[in-house]
Amino acid sequence: MKKRSLFFLLLGLTLSGAGLHPLHSAPVKSGFAERDISPEIGMERPGGYLKGYHQAFHDPCKARAVVFDDGAKVVALVGLDALFIREPQVAEVRRRIQEKTGIPGEAVLIGASHSHSSGPTGMVLPGEFDHADELVQELAYEKSSAADPTYLETMMAGIVEAVTEAYEKRAEIRLGFGRGEEDGVSFNRRWRMKNGLSFTHPRAGNPDMVEPAGPIDPEVGVIGAWDDEGKLVGCVVNFACHATTSPPGISANYPWALEKVIRGAFGEDVVVVFLNGASGDVTQVDNASPVVAPRGADGAMLVGGSVGAEAVKVLAGLVASLTKEVAVDTRSRVLEIPRRPPSAERVAKSRALAAAPPAGAAALNDWIWAKEIVMLQALVDKEPVRRVEVQAVQIGPAVFVTNPAEYFCEFGLQQKAASPFPFTWPVSLANGCVGYVPTSEAMGPQGGGYETRLTSYSNLVPEAGDLIRDAGIALTKELKPGEVPAGQAAPEFKAGWNYGNVPPQLK
Ligand SMILES: [Zn+2]
Repeated sequence: MKKRSLFFLLLGLTLSGAGLHPLHSAPVKSGFAERDISPEIGMERPGGYLKGYHQAFHDPCKARAVVFDDGAKVVALVGLDALFIREPQVAEVRRRIQEKTGIPGEAVLIGASHSHSSGPTGMVLPGEFDHADELVQELAYEKSSAADPTYLETMMAGIVEAVTEAYEKRAEIRLGFGRGEEDGVSFNRRWRMKNGLSFTHPRAGNPDMVEPAGPIDPEVGVIGAWDDEGKLVGCVVNFACHATTSPPGISANYPWALEKVIRGAFGEDVVVVFLNGASGDVTQVDNASPVVAPRGADGAMLVGGSVGAEAVKVLAGLVASLTKEVAVDTRSRVLEIPRRPPSAERVAKSRALAAAPPAGAAALNDWIWAKEIVMLQALVDKEPVRRVEVQAVQIGPAVFVTNPAEYFCEFGLQQKAASPFPFTWPVSLANGCVGYVPTSEAMGPQGGGYETRLTSYSNLVPEAGDLIRDAGIALTKELKPGEVPAGQAAPEFKAGWNYGNVPPQLK
């Protein structure tokens, strides 16, 4: 038996270079940690195409980390309260983590929650447009939402410290895996219209609305980690919805409420690692609602609180089926996907429009999209093809499949259907950001809408989504799913309860 394992191990190493599925004999170890990465008041608040600034504080933005170590391999998952994280910062964070802990870069998953009330991690990075002419530089650096170098360092240091602490704290732990469902708080924001196209946020009461143009994904994916005293140490929660329920001020957005509810049930020191699913076309806004929905902190509580309550239900049900026998593994692949270049005619018109200051709200709208085309052309000149990382991280019977996009919900459902794993949880805006990636249908003659606009932010070719989906599915098939822990078998029948085995006693 021993000889055979060794043979296969050698064969695996020789043939694939990656080795066989880890022969984990050691119980899984895990550690959780978090760091406050809140921006300062006065810093830019990213999420739009113009500049906006933080004026108040509501709750901290965090880097939330968990490390899993099966004795053969180690992986780290980071839930980041950020609109997104760009590739250069991901590379730097991975380099520092590898230096401090030895965890290889490709085994680190960083998923941004897409919080629209978080710190300045973009849209434009420092130096990104230095190659372009004066007009482009002015539009990019002075008129657009821009990352802050001080804040980028705060965020990167926070992630590295959280992962390093989680790694150092790792200890034997019992894990549970489960899923719940919350189908009342997220809505597809794209609607088929009577004109045959699909529009985004047509707004309640619009007489031209026909039906939603895409699905939602109600699954609440949960991994819970308990110590030997039976205390929940931390959990990972996966759910697909834009984090746009912005409480007033700097905020983790609805993950604030998610954490509040889980901590209320299991203790104030539980670390909640939230990873957003395929939510590019899914938000909290119900365009068909006849009534006004709760907003601000109330809206965040409706979404995060409901998902958190569902996670609490799942966690409560897991305690009888925990295991220490959990293998971890990772795969990743970098795709090269071209941008869609704007036409020369559109670029020329856009330059003329963008050079003059807009007068009035309607003109501002046109000016924004002209500015975006001008900036996009500069990006096409510098980098016509983007490197798009796809990663699969396995924790026992669960696999997280990443994309660096605002990825349409339908793709996530397709990945779930095709994956060999009992639990398949897509993670959007992971390890970078390439903007919106719609379905090819949305980019076709029945498509359209906000996400299909050509901008400096979203500009990959229409087949990008299919390529990313298929690469993710292929990676899940390279891994060997673990079994879902079943819990202790019921005892063999001996006798019924002898208080309960009598006919009705009437006198
Ligand atoms: Zn978005």
